[in-house]
Amino acid sequence: MLKKFEVSTTRRVEFVDITSLVRQTVAESGVLDGICVVYVPHTTCGITINEHADPDVVADIVNKLEELAPRNGRYAHIEGNSDAHIKASLVGSSQTIIIQGGKLLLGIWQGVFLCEFDGPRKRNVFIKVIAG
Ligand code: ZN
Repeated sequence: MLKKFEVSTTRRVEFVDITSLVRQTVAESGVLDGICVVYVPHTTCGITINEHADPDVVADIVNKLEELAPRNGRYAHIEGNSDAHIKASLVGSSQTIIIQGGKLLLGIWQGVFLCEFDGPRKRNVFIKVIAG
């Protein structure tokens, strides 16, 4: 089962919590045991799993990524968004989550985020659910 969703981001850099979207997709699939892949086909956004209880965690991640790849750093890429490309590569474009008993095997504090680094724009998110 493969589903495609559109997620609209509202700022240049923004982490959008898509955990409920992933949970809902897995529930609809009827798969009790397997894996779920969450993937974005973009070069300036990514997918990560981290704490979604305290928003300061996301703020710290965003700030540290900005330190590592400042928006106004010296880059060769003419489009002017190299920082977003670098941040997207650091985060990665997909995550794989184990499904056990029909539920995502996430820790209590973990959430799945779409990480926007060059918004605002519309992003496609693919969720593939595989039984096994
Ligand atoms: Zn670019």
